[in-house]
Amino acid sequence: MNNEIKTSRRTVLCMGGAAVAAVGVATRASAQQKIDKAMVLYQDKPKEDQQCSKCLHFQPPNACAIVAGTISPTGWCGAFAPKA
Ligand code: SF4
Repeated sequence: MNNEIKTSRRTVLCMGGAAVAAVGVATRASAQQKIDKAMVLYQDKPKEDQQCSKCLHFQPPNACAIVAGTISPTGWCGAFAPKA
């Protein structure tokens, strides 16, 4: 019983690590498949002074190189990377 619980926790931790790795790969790459908004905590409003129009990945007028779907220029997500 105890071993089953430990295995289950390990499995969950591995799955979490895989999700983080997937986001990292997609962030670096010219991703063929975009990330779901929920995976990067996308929101339709800025976070402090960060917003999509100031992000390296933003593709005007309303798209993102790595996040799927319609993207607001004033949105934000956890993969935000400031333009140089
Ligand atoms: S903040 Fe996120 S959704 Fe917005 S452009 Fe950057 S990577 Fe894309």
